[in-house]
Formats: sequence, C-alpha cells, structure tokens
Amino acid sequence: MLYLSTRGHADRKRFCEILLEGLAPDGGLYLPEQYPQLDAAALTRLRQVWSSQGYASLAFEILSLYIDDIPAADLKALCDKTYTRAVFGTDEIVPLKPLQAAGASAPELYLEALSNGPTLAFKDMAMQLLGNLFEYELARRGEELNILGATSGDTGSAAEYAMRGKKGVRVFMTSPNGRMSPFQQAQMFSLLDANIHNIAIDGVFDDCQDIVKAVSNDLDFKRRYKIGTVNSINWARLLAQVVYYFAGYFQATQTNEQKVSFTVPSGNFGNVCAGHVARMMGLPIDRLVVATNENDVLDEFFRTGVYRVRGTADTHETSSPSMDISKASNFERFVFDLIGRDGARTKQLFGEGLARTGHFDLSGDACFAQAATRYGFASGKSTHANRLDTIRQVFAQYGAMIDTHTADGVKVAREHLKVGVPMLVLETALPIKFAATLVEALGREPNRPAQFEGIEALPKRVQVMPADVSVVKAYIVTHCD
Ligand SMILES: *Cc1c(COP(=O)(O)O)cnc(C)c1O
Repeated sequence: MLYLSTRGHADRKRFCEILLEGLAPDGGLYLPEQYPQLDAAALTRLRQVWSSQGYASLAFEILSLYIDDIPAADLKALCDKTYTRAVFGTDEIVPLKPLQAAGASAPELYLEALSNGPTLAFKDMAMQLLGNLFEYELARRGEELNILGATSGDTGSAAEYAMRGKKGVRVFMTSPNGRMSPFQQAQMFSLLDANIHNIAIDGVFDDCQDIVKAVSNDLDFKRRYKIGTVNSINWARLLAQVVYYFAGYFQATQTNEQKVSFTVPSGNFGNVCAGHVARMMGLPIDRLVVATNENDVLDEFFRTGVYRVRGTADTHETSSPSMDISKASNFERFVFDLIGRDGARTKQLFGEGLARTGHFDLSGDACFAQAATRYGFASGKSTHANRLDTIRQVFAQYGAMIDTHTADGVKVAREHLKVGVPMLVLETALPIKFAATLVEALGREPNRPAQFEGIEALPKRVQVMPADVSVVKAYIVTHCD
C-alpha cells in the first residue's frame, strides 16, 4: 500500500515513512492510493475474527490492509499490547450501551464507549497504538523523537499517557497555565515519568500553538533536536480509529445485510473521517452524521456547501471544548475524495483559496450533492442549552450520565433516526472530565472511576514559563539528553 498527498505531490510513500511525519511536503495530507475493498466474504471473516478473537485481532486484520512495511508478527504483537482490558477497562474495548426505555421493543440509540482508556477520552484509542508504533519504529531506525505539542486538554494528556516510559521518545507539552479543568491538570501534571515534560505557558492556548509553530518553523532547530508532533492529521491515528467503526457495527448487527448509522461529535473531522474510510471500504454504514457545537464550520458546509474558516473572534469557547475549532484540519481528506481525488483542485481550494479568502464554495458543484447521496453525510449542531437539556433527558430517561461532547452527538443523532437502522453515537469522553457542566445540568457531581479518586492531591511535575519561544527552546535543549 502506497500513500499519496491530497495536494497532488508526485511522491508515493509507505506507511512507516509517513508514520513520524506531519504534512506532506506540498502541505497536503496523506491518504492511501485506494481504499481496500471488503466483499461479503471478507466482512464475514472479520466478524468471525472479532467475535472469536476480540478487538486486538480485528485491529490487526484492518491495519494489515494498510501497513505492509511492518512484519505481520510484529504488527500483531503491537495490537495485542495496545488493546487490552488492563488499558481499556473491558474485554470488548469499545462496548455498546443501548439506550432503551422499559417496554420499548428496540433501543432509541446506542452509545459506543470509546472513552474507557487512561485519559477517559476517545483519543486514547489511537494514541495508545501510536505510542507503541513510535517506539517500535524509532528502535528499528535507531532514532529518537522529541514530540512538541500544544494542548487545552484531551490531546495533550492522551499523548502523554501514550508516550510515558516509551524508549526513544520525549514529550514536551505546552498548555495555557491555569486554564485547564482541575481534573485535566491533575491528569497531566501527575505524570512523573522522566520522558514527559509539562510546560505551563503564561498565556492562552493560541500562545502555546504559536510557540509550537515558531519552533517547527525553525528548520535547523527542528532537525537538530528531532522535533515531531502527534496531531490529529497523522494518518496512523486516523487508521487506528477505523477499527472501532467495525467493532461497533458487529456489536449492533447480526448479519452483514443490516445497515447502521453513526453520529460523531466532531471538531477536527478526524474521528468521522475514520468512519468515512470504513464506509469506503464497504462497511454497511447508512449515514455518517457530523455533530458540531456552536463552532459549526462543518455543519455549515454540509448544509450549504460553503466551507468558511472562522477567525479568533468567531471561535467560541464552549462547554464541549474539545470541539472548539476554527477550521477542521482533517476535512481536506474528505473534500479530496468528494471532488474526485483531484489534487490540483484540492491544492487550489485549501492552499491559495483559503489563504486568500478564508472560504470556498462547492454549492454550485455537482459533487456537493454527493456528500449526502454517495458518501452518506448528514450534520447538525448543538448549543450549550441543547447540551444541558440532552444530559438531563438521557439521565432521566435511561439513568445514563453522558459528557458534554457525547450530548452534542445524542442531540444531533435524534434529528436523524430512521426506523430499522440502528443509530450508534460515539461516546467521546466520560462526564467526570467536564464536571462543572454536569453539575450545571444535573445538580450533582458526575461519577468518578475508582482509579481517579483523589488525583487532584497527587504530586505535580510542571514548569511554568512565559510565552517566549526562546525560553521553551532553551528548556528543550537542556532536556534532550
Ligand atoms: C478530540 C475530541 C472530539 C473531536 O474529535 P475530532 O476528531 O477532532 O473531530 C470530540 N470529543 C472529544 C471528547 C474529543 O476529545
């Protein structure tokens, strides 16, 4: 399997070459040259693998279709080491929870639990695999990598929990000092592993991002100190996410004739893009419903055909903060497919076009209608008031507590239910991470998994620094060996 860039660059690369890279040289995103096609027999076989051998074996089967430069036995061992009950809490790894009223003949919908990993958010599903893949590939090459990132919450802690103790990898994670929830701060800063460096910047999230950009743009420094990233455009992360669409499908259905729909709480379009890949491979998905919060860049596109990047002033801070985006960094992958894999046009739309005007408009293009008809996409939007209502309703109707992002998903899923087509809402975080909004909705603290009792009181390891690139660089230099 070879990978191409969405912007038409002529180079083709193999999986391990793009594993440690970010963007393609032309600024595009990597995608496989074609999506492997699963016929009825192949789907039946995957269902059997899943039911008899479990999630890790299913992951191996799907990853093998895209990775041919890691020996099969090694890849299997990496999957087996990643997807365990010890890390994800259950043997199912991503169990389905039906929301079904007493006396009803079928569930209203299902929650697919993706948030039982170490940081209680779905990013663990991919990041845990990435940690093991990085360690494996760096050892094979005899190289080291220093991951530099900026986080306002979920991504940073998922990356740190995935990379802690890994050989050849260090993490330097910046976050805005004092601006994450006490639970999130405790989760990150209580990691005492020598290869994990928490850097609290006196500033806001944008200051952290600017520092990361400035360091990455200093090509000499980047090369000399082997700076890399783990952001959501990484193809390996997206690929790992494809697996749980299959696992959800097999749990919700008896036969491969049955279709299901998924609703995905979305920000950067990484999670739902994995659903798109699963559907392109032949998984019988009816609708892929994109749920946004007040930052409705994606809902606007699927309603109107206009993709409009928001400025800082139009990017809202919401109570589902992991979906607070001004642009959706993985969206280019889908648009590339939508416009018939035309690299030159993708480059024009996302390169010059967005840089000049901040938007593009596909409403007049015949392909736009296909987003719904051929690719199954639908969308909707949820606000703070919707979120509170939905959290209350789901608790009253089903006794289930859901987090704010999952609530956005349930709210929008309810607008797209179809008789005879099970709806799976991806549960992307647990409520304890967003306790303040849960208290606002329900008047009580959310349940806390036992292993997180008292984490706020644990010793913390964090360096506070001014929003100054040279100070951060100096810290990296002195902690690189
Ligand atoms: C990251 C995140 C999302 C958004 O996922 P994308 O892949 O960026 O669309 C939704 N919910 C939670 C809890 C997250 O951490």
